[in-house]
Amino acid sequence: MARYTGAVCRLCRREGQKLFLKGERCYTDKCAVARRSYAPGQHGQNRKKLSEYGIQLREKQKARRYYGVLESQFEKYFEMASKKKGITGENLLQILESRLDNVVYRLGLATSRAEARQLVRHGHFNVNGARVNIPSYLVKEGDVISVREKSRNSERFKSILETTEGKVVPKWLDMNRDALEAKVVNLATREDIDLPIEEHLIVELYSK
Ligand code: SF4
Repeated sequence: MARYTGAVCRLCRREGQKLFLKGERCYTDKCAVARRSYAPGQHGQNRKKLSEYGIQLREKQKARRYYGVLESQFEKYFEMASKKKGITGENLLQILESRLDNVVYRLGLATSRAEARQLVRHGHFNVNGARVNIPSYLVKEGDVISVREKSRNSERFKSILETTEGKVVPKWLDMNRDALEAKVVNLATREDIDLPIEEHLIVELYSK
C-alpha cells in the first residue's frame, strides 16, 4: 500500500504548525517546528500571503497529513462523504477518524498514527475477534478492537502503554486498558474531533 516516505517534520514545517506525526519527539524541544518555524526549502523564510485557493489547499493538505492519507485516497473519502447524508465536511472527518490506524492511535495503543499504521500492518490487532491488518479499514459502531493475544506481553506494547499512560480516549470509544480492548460506542461526531481543521475550506476546494 502506498504511503508517504519522506521526512515527516518537513510536512509540519510546510503547514507552519505541529501535526504530531512523530509521537514522543513532538513534545520535546527537538521538534523541528519549535526549532525552525518557517517552511522548508530555499524560499521557506519568504512566505507570501496565500490566495483563497492557497488557503483551501493548505487546509486539505493539513488534514491529509494529520491522518497520513495519500491524495487519491483522500479524494475517495471526499466522494464517500459527499454521498452520505449530512454535512460533507463533517462526514469527511468522521470517515478519516474511523480508519483503524487512527482508532488505534486514539486508544493510546500507538504513540503516533504512523506507528499505529505499522502495528496494524504487522497484524497486532483483531476487529471483532478476527485479525485485520489493513490500516484504512473503517470501523463501525459496535466493533470491538483488541490487541491480539500474542502481542499483549510484547516489549513494544509495554513501552507504548507506558508512553500513553494518562492519554484521554475520546468518548466515542470505550477503552478497557487492562484488557487492551475497546468498543466503538458510536462513530465520532465533529465535537469529538479535536484537530484544528476547517473542513468547510476543504469542501470549498473540491467544489470548484
Ligand atoms: Fe511535527 Fe512532531 Fe516533527 Fe515536530 S517533531 S515537526 S510535531 S512530526
